[in-house]
Parts: sequence; C-alpha cells; structure tokens
Amino acid sequence: MTAKKSVLVEKVEETKAVEEKALIKKIKTPQLLRGFRDILPEDQPYWDAVHQKGAELALAYGYDRIELPLVESAELFARSVGKQTDIVEKEMFLFPDASGTNIVLRPEATASCARAYIEHGMVDRPQPVKMYYQGPMFRYERPQAGRYRQFYQLGFESFGSADPVVDAEMIILGNILYNELGLPVVAHVNSLGTPESRTQYKVELVAHYRKHRNDICEDCKRRIVKNPLRVLDCKEEGCQNIKNNAPQLLDFLDEASKEHFMKVLEYLDEMNVSYVLTPHLVRGLDYYSHTVFEFYLADQEEGKRQSALGGGGRYDGLVELLGGRPTPACGFAPGVDRIMSAMKEKELSGLRYQPTVYLAPLGDAARKKAFPLFESLRQGGVLVTQTFGKSALKGQLEAADKAKVRYTLILGQKEVLDGTIIVRDMESGAQETVDIGKVLGILQKKMSSATLS
Ligand code: AMP
Repeated sequence: MTAKKSVLVEKVEETKAVEEKALIKKIKTPQLLRGFRDILPEDQPYWDAVHQKGAELALAYGYDRIELPLVESAELFARSVGKQTDIVEKEMFLFPDASGTNIVLRPEATASCARAYIEHGMVDRPQPVKMYYQGPMFRYERPQAGRYRQFYQLGFESFGSADPVVDAEMIILGNILYNELGLPVVAHVNSLGTPESRTQYKVELVAHYRKHRNDICEDCKRRIVKNPLRVLDCKEEGCQNIKNNAPQLLDFLDEASKEHFMKVLEYLDEMNVSYVLTPHLVRGLDYYSHTVFEFYLADQEEGKRQSALGGGGRYDGLVELLGGRPTPACGFAPGVDRIMSAMKEKELSGLRYQPTVYLAPLGDAARKKAFPLFESLRQGGVLVTQTFGKSALKGQLEAADKAKVRYTLILGQKEVLDGTIIVRDMESGAQETVDIGKVLGILQKKMSSATLS
C-alpha cells in the first residue's frame, strides 16, 4: 500500500515537473529593441578609455562640462537641424507626452547646447564659451554595422568666436583624441562657405542633377526640390557617378570664405594633421557654414565600407536660428561606439584596472577579517582586488591568475588564529607568512621598490 502510494506521489511530482518546465519554456525573455545594445562589462575598458581621453582633452583645452537632458522639445530640432533633413524627417524618436506636448529623444546635442547657451544668457560671459558633454543620442535609423538607434557621442562646442583657429582647434583636438587612443586617422575637410556663397552653387548643382533626372534615386529627386545640398549625402550606388561629376562648392566660395578655410588648413599643416580636401562633404545637418569635417581610419581596408568616427564643423547661424543673438560657433562630436569598435578591431587594450594584490580568505572566520583588511589595503594605496563569493583556494588562485596580480594574500583558519597572513608571489610561487598588522607596510614597500627597479 505504502509502496503503491509512493509510486503515485512520484507520478504526480513528475507531471508537475514537466508542467513547470513547459511553463518556463513558454515565458520568452524580452529581447533588446532593434538597433539598441548593451555595453557589456568586457566593453568597458574601451568605453572608459574614450570617455577618459575626452574628459582629459576637454580639461586641457578649456571646455567646461555640461549635462544636457536626453529629452527636448520637438521644436528645437525642427528649427535647428532642419525640417528637410533625414534626421528630422524620418529618424526622430518623437512622442506626445502626457500633456500632449511633442517631445523628442535628442538625435544630437549641438542644438541642446545652443539652446542652453541662449537660455542661460551665456552670451554675456567672456567669449568664447566652450562646453563639453558625453552621452547617448537617438536616431531611428536602419540598424547596420556601426549604426545604432541609441549611440553615444562626446561633444566639444565653442560659442562666440568666428576665428578660424577655433575650426582648426576642433580638428586638431579630434586628431589628438583618436591618435592617443591608438587610432591613426585622416580628416576629410571641406568648406561650405556662407549661406550667400552657397546660393549660386545650389543653382548649378540643381541644374546638374536635372540633366540626370532619370538616373537618380527617388530621394535625390525630392532633395533637389526641397534641399539640394542633401544630394551630396546620398549613398545610393546609382547616384555616385552623378555626384562625383557635380560642380564643387569650393569653386563658388567668396574671398572671405576662401581665406577663412586657408587659415584653418595652415593650422592643420603646422600640426601635421593628416587631411584630405573632400569637395562633396556637406554633412547631414542644415546649420553648418564654413569648415565641415569628418574623421575616418587612415588605414581602412580598400573596398570596406567606411563609417565616420566623428565629425563636426562651424555653425554660425544656429544660435540666431534659435532666437539668440547672432553668435558664431563651431563643434565636434566623436562617435563613441565606432571608436570602441575600431579599438577592438585593432586589438588595442583600452583602459583596465590593473590590481597588484588579490586577497583570498578561506572559511567564514577569515572572510569576516577580510573586509576590514581589504579596505585598509585599498585606503593605503594598494591596488587590491577580491572575489569573496568564491570559497575554495583553487578558484581564488585561478581568479588571481586571471587578474594578473603580482601577489596573492591567503588568509586561512590557522592564520586568523595566529594573527598572520600568507603573501604569495604569483611569479615565483614563493610564499612567506607575515604578521597581519604589518602586511600593508610590507606591500607598500614591495610596491615602491618595484617602481624604483
Ligand atoms: P553626426 O552627429 O551625424 O555628425 O555624427 C557624429 C558621429 O557620431 C559620427 O561620425 C558617428 O561616429 C557617430 N554616429 C552618428 N550616427 C550614429 C549611429 N546611428 N550609430 C553609431 N554612431 C553614430
């Protein structure tokens, strides 16, 4: 009877387990949205290297940090970036908020910076006002390699100076940023001149495209009517030849614009910045004037689709467009995602925390002592690490090996009772037992002699 019952119980339990398994299967883990990604722990050395280098250069070159909101009014971008741009036409994450106001996840931050400049009366501060930011941007683009719907930029913006030295500073800064991260780059540069000098150019450009009306893509057909310069941004295979034979903006620049551009190039020559004149570079945004530029890897493989590592330019009209006093300005935005992937491709190491000491407690009593010891070491300037969640010595020694530390401190039951600790040299495997109260001093001494030798 009892045996029978237990078979029954077993059967019921088995069915229950099968049902539970089926239920687990039915629950689908929600996935990342298309075009979004996680920046994983293993990506952080690159992330940190880029952000730290950006912040370091911002400090040195006198750009003050500004934090801007991720959400702005739709109006800001329609007025600044331009209604006929791809960004505003089809790439904005635009929603009505609870009160019905149209809000946007920012597609870029130059417009936000200009808004802040006007809103906080920065025009009355000593000029130029130089600002630096870091953060995510959102564009509803077709996701592909190196193109995300949430991506990250650093940004350098300078308001209030029309001097070509500022345009040059942006390109020089960019060159230094990429080079110091281990990336050899070339800057593609062009001048858009002033809006006046572009008027005649646009007439000629439209005439050229009209001649090829039957061969150009649908987008370009629209562009030549609505916003002709945009045709130069076209990536369609069929339009490339027509684009390459189009009239060049540089030939239409007025004398002042030419002189401005020449001065920029002279600064670049002086700094040995590698650049190429790129007559059809116009960039995607409407508010640029004079210098525009984009950075590419210098040693990119032939035939491989290039994607810009960053770009920028002068935007003298933007502040006025947003209702401020006419204010010349210039900016540069490096793309963090693409820099990180170029660094990985080149097998650069990024920025890693390199501990020198690993603390391995064995057993509960040792773990209790381990926290205060760990803190006293850290506060004493020792670069120390741990995995207290591991209990066995083997696992902890493996972790210490992986962390590439110079020493592992082993604190077992016996050492706790004796008030000692074992210092293991990870290179030679030699171990010595020392007084736990003296271990900080011993490590500090070892470190300083290691630095001296
Ligand atoms: P832009 O604001 O369009 O001038 O972009 C400046 C830089 O940001 C580009 O050169 C890219 O490096 C980066 N970037 C722009 N759009 C994206 C995107 N959708 N995904 C990843 N990076 C981007």
